[in-house]
This record gives sequence, structure tokens and C-alpha cells, in this order.
Amino acid sequence: MQVSFIGLGTMGLPMAITLVGTGFQVTGFDLDPGACQRLEKAGGKVAAGAEEAMVSADISVSMLPEGRHVRDVLNETTLGVLKSSTLLVDCSTIDVTSAQELAALATRHGHGFVDAPVSGGAEGAAAGTLAFMAGGAPDDLARARPLLEAMGAKVLHFGAAGSGQAAKACHNMNCGITALGVCEAFALADGLGLDHGAFFDLCRNAAAQSWILENRCLVPGPAPEAPASNRYAPGFAARLMAKDLGLAQDAAQSCGQATPFGAEAARRFAEFAAGDGGDLDFSAIYRTIREV
Ligand code: NAD
Repeated sequence: MQVSFIGLGTMGLPMAITLVGTGFQVTGFDLDPGACQRLEKAGGKVAAGAEEAMVSADISVSMLPEGRHVRDVLNETTLGVLKSSTLLVDCSTIDVTSAQELAALATRHGHGFVDAPVSGGAEGAAAGTLAFMAGGAPDDLARARPLLEAMGAKVLHFGAAGSGQAAKACHNMNCGITALGVCEAFALADGLGLDHGAFFDLCRNAAAQSWILENRCLVPGPAPEAPASNRYAPGFAARLMAKDLGLAQDAAQSCGQATPFGAEAARRFAEFAAGDGGDLDFSAIYRTIREV
């Protein structure tokens, strides 16, 4: 099966390489030539542009930063020249409305569309253990499933197009709030003179355990593999966490649900990303609470 993969960044490159490793014929494109070279080295093909990559694909995957990037790539002109019944699978985290509009555009051109944002980080992408939150017609999801299952350990269907993004907004709002909770707990532990390693050990073996704590322990030291112990190199960039928390606020407004903790997390991450923290891992938000 011919698969195109647009966006070979922190997540897209390991996802595309996983597909190559499981027997899919992958043609990729990224604006960064270095990323394209890394895919080629891993056995994928590279195209000179997004449209060239997509034109002969049965399934076209996108893994781009924001809604505007996805709308740029999946535009009216490009959708007009694709093979008939191409299945578009957008794994980027974008707003619900854009996902619904892209699904309608795809339908007008005779293509399928599934929004399938992910959780699990770059390590999950490399290991093929991501969790996908999918929205789309059951037939389209059935076509996407073998590809998603090659890259992930879980594929959860939430309903019509856009509902994968709705689930992702709720999920990442939870992650942003949790990150601030972990930060404050470690800052207080520090203030009270507790050892970070011992406190980490307590939390991961007790009720305060979470994926954020375990994989993104926000203070340098206790988790040697975590971005915090590696000068906060992403990982999941703070600018992307700020974007996701903003999307969650838009979603909350659209249904009139108050999310005061989510709003505070959105405010804090937006402020941090607008300064010099945007390209650091989101866990660097700890620096705004306590000096490290
Ligand atoms: P990234 O910034 O590392 O990668 C995005 C890539 O898209 C870059 O390589 C960029 O050059 C490329 N790109 C941008 N515009 C393009 C275009 N028009 N054509 C081709 N390539 C283009 O971002 P990421 O961390 O890989 O995240 C991608 C998406 O996945 C985001 O929506 C993010 O919110 C989501 N996400 C990220 C993580 C994570 O841990 N990093 C986890 C879950 C979800």
C-alpha cells in the first residue's frame, strides 16, 4: 500500500519510520530537508513537495503543527488532483472545526477523512505504541485501522469527523493541568528540603502517579531520560502545549462548559511560550515556579 507522510518532525519522522518498518511503502515530505534525509536513510522515499508525495498515495497521513499548516497542505487544488477515494488521515492536533471542514472538503472531492490525533510522545511514536483518538465515518476508520495499528497500541473511535480532536482537546487539557500540579508539588518538596529523587520515587509508587510524572518528570535529575534532565530539549514543545490548551479553551467555549483550571493552564503556558520557552519541552514550565 502506498502511503504519503507530510510533516516529519518530532512525531512524524518516527511514525513514518515505524510504517516503513512494518512494510508500508512510504513517500514523505517536510519543509526541513534534514528530516527528509532521515526518512530516506530509514528506507522511505522522499518527494519534492507535499502534492507530489500525495498524488499516488492510497492513504495520506499528515502530522503538522497547527490547523493552518494542515489547511495549507490539504487544500482545494491538491485534493482535486489526488487519486479518487484517497483516504486522508490527519494525526496533527488541530481545532474541531478545521477537522470537520477538512472532512467536508475531502467528501466533496470523493475522498475519505479521519482525524486521528495521538498521545504517547516521540518515544511512543518510535515504539509504535501511540494511542489514537479517531473521528470519522466507520468505513473510513476501517480503512485507516491497519495503518494506525502499525503505529499505535490503541485506536479509540469517538464518532464523526472532529470527535477525535474533541477527545484530544479534553485529554491535553488534563495533561496541562497535571503538569502544573506536578510542578507545584516538586517546588514545595524542594522548598521543604526534600530530596527530589526520593519524592519522585514516592509519587510514582503512590496515588500521585501519572504519565506526566513518570515520563516528563518536570525537574532535572530523578528521570535521566526525561527532557528536564536533558536541558528541556523537546519532547513536546511548550508552544504546542500552549496551542493545545488554547484549543481546549475554544472547545470549552463552544459548548459553554466552564474549565477554570484549564483556563489557568492555558494562560500560563501561553505566557511561557511567548517568552523564550516556546521551543523547550513543556516541562520547562517548572522554571516559572522555581529556579533550577
Ligand atoms: P514539530 O514541530 O516537531 O514537527 C512539525 C513538522 O512539520 C516540522 O518538521 C515542520 O518542518 C513540518 N511542516 C510544517 N509545515 C509544513 C508543510 N507545509 N509541509 C511539510 N512539512 C511542514 O511538531 P511535532 O512535535 O512533531 O508535533 C506535530 C503535531 O503532533 C502537533 O499538532 C502536536 O501538537 C502533535 N503532538 C505532538 C506530540 C509530541 O510529543 N511532540 C505528542 C502528541 C501530539
